[in-house]
Amino acid sequence: MQVKEFDTVILGGGPAGFSAGIYTARGNVSTAIIDISMLGGQPSNYLELENYPAFMKIGGYDLMEKFEEHADMFGVQKFPMQEIESVDLVSSPKVIKTKEYEFLAKTVIIATGAKPMKLGIKGENEFIGRGVSYCAVCDGAFYKDKIVAVVGGGNSAVEEAIYLTKFASRVYLIHRRDELRADKIIQERAMKNEKIEFIWNSVVLEIQGAELVNNLVLKDTNTNEQSNLAVDGIFPYIGITPNVENISGQIAQDKSGFILTDETMKTSIDGVYAVGDVRKTPLRQVITAASDGAVAGVYAVKYIEALKEITV
Ligand code: NAP
Repeated sequence: MQVKEFDTVILGGGPAGFSAGIYTARGNVSTAIIDISMLGGQPSNYLELENYPAFMKIGGYDLMEKFEEHADMFGVQKFPMQEIESVDLVSSPKVIKTKEYEFLAKTVIIATGAKPMKLGIKGENEFIGRGVSYCAVCDGAFYKDKIVAVVGGGNSAVEEAIYLTKFASRVYLIHRRDELRADKIIQERAMKNEKIEFIWNSVVLEIQGAELVNNLVLKDTNTNEQSNLAVDGIFPYIGITPNVENISGQIAQDKSGFILTDETMKTSIDGVYAVGDVRKTPLRQVITAASDGAVAGVYAVKYIEALKEITV
């Protein structure tokens, strides 16, 4: 196994990770970004962003390409597609083992993001890729002139429901309450869209089908009455859960697993920072992820400089 030594190792190559890397590498600190998948993070799958300042409208993939180019400019070393076997944040140096490498680091910045939560109902796992999808941008085009359901009432559910109307003939938005959580501007767009039909006070009990999904069993949360809804696909957008495999247990987290930080993005362990969607934060946007990365980058550099002073 090849050993690689860096001042800073960043886990995760999304907006938070790249932003942190730009700040650490520019601060003259040797920096590596490791990702279990391709670089770019979640926004690479977003069709379009219209709330990243200075870019009125930009494709998610295009924006993340710019983040990557910017990190390249400062010499950040990139290790995509790394299967992580273990992370030791407590040892000195900190050690991250992947199938190919052992990374030794003075500081670690955790930017691993979050993933969609599952409904946890019968049929959900069975029909993944056959009518159950967690990515409208990836799979929406398969539902041209078909009927789909989106579950949830947050920004993701409502935005993705709007997006799916580009393809589907009808989009049901199934929400467990009678009021959406999504921002008002997004709600208004959905309400105006004639292809979207809201099914309030309802939860999905079961996803049914043969080869492909063809039916949802719904329950009215007020009356407990059950009903069937014929659909060709279902997109659950009920929130996210942090990617903390190999990290949980070493570090302070909230009850949902999100990592706790102070205002400098420092975690409960010295020299370890958490940024973006993986940390407990009031807003999960590309802009806030990038901002977290900048803060952590600056404080990681300060931490490394202080270490050098101690050892001189
Ligand atoms: P979210 O805001 O947490 O909303 C989750 C929704 O799913 C809620 O409406 C919730 O219902 C519902 N839900 C949760 N568990 C459920 C279950 N087991 N069964 C049925 N429904 C369930 O999650 P999100 O929409 O994924 O957004 C995550 C974060 O990203 C938010 O901070 C959001 O603002 C941000 N985001 C922003 C944008 C944007 O600004 N353009 C776009 C996407 C996401 P209740 O309302 O009853 O709790």
